[in-house]
Amino acid sequence: MKIKQTEFVISAVGPSQYPEDGLPEVALAGRSNVGKSSLINKMLLRKNLARTSQQPGKTQTLNYYRINEELFFVDFPGYGYARVSKSEREAWGKMIERYLRGREPLKLVLQLVDVRHPPSADDIRMYEWLAHYGIPMIVVATKADKVSRSQWPKHMKIIRQSLGMPGHVPLVLFSSETGQGRDDLWSMIEQAAGI
Ligand code: GDP
Repeated sequence: MKIKQTEFVISAVGPSQYPEDGLPEVALAGRSNVGKSSLINKMLLRKNLARTSQQPGKTQTLNYYRINEELFFVDFPGYGYARVSKSEREAWGKMIERYLRGREPLKLVLQLVDVRHPPSADDIRMYEWLAHYGIPMIVVATKADKVSRSQWPKHMKIIRQSLGMPGHVPLVLFSSETGQGRDDLWSMIEQAAGI
């Protein structure tokens, strides 16, 4: 994918604000601090388009990024932040559910997990929830540079097993430090989005 133009479009609080261009959408989910903003910036070759280390739990919006007039990245708010209230958590769930259930342009969900740790209970819940909607998924194991190469297979196996990923769901190792996984991920995104 040759990145020609990237633009932050909107922090949407609900469906009335979702773009109506009809471009395919790729959603990104993951717990706070997993490296989601860093991945977006790396994929789009921008230093600071997605803000890293946003105050966790405060952004109850879907953040839309338009790429080349060809597709959108839709950044979900990070989950799993302990100090979020029950009502905030419920609002988060409602917003995401409404999006997943009714969003026709949604072609693919990337779920991010930290390669260093076994998936958390929240990661497992999120994965099961996404799988339930039958939307094509890719699991992205972030921060690959923080684990030595010889340990990658072991960590990948733990992630696959803990999430209960069937063989056809791709698991991609990614590093926003080294760019590892970027080309593979773009190929998969282009294929899923039909661009
Ligand atoms: P977000 O909350 O999911 O958006 O996570 P961020 O992108 O803000 O990343 C959280 C922290 O992890 C930051 O300090 C990043 O610099 C760091 N980080 C993110 N991705 C990587 C990576 O691939 N490698 C390394 N070494 N650090 C990373």
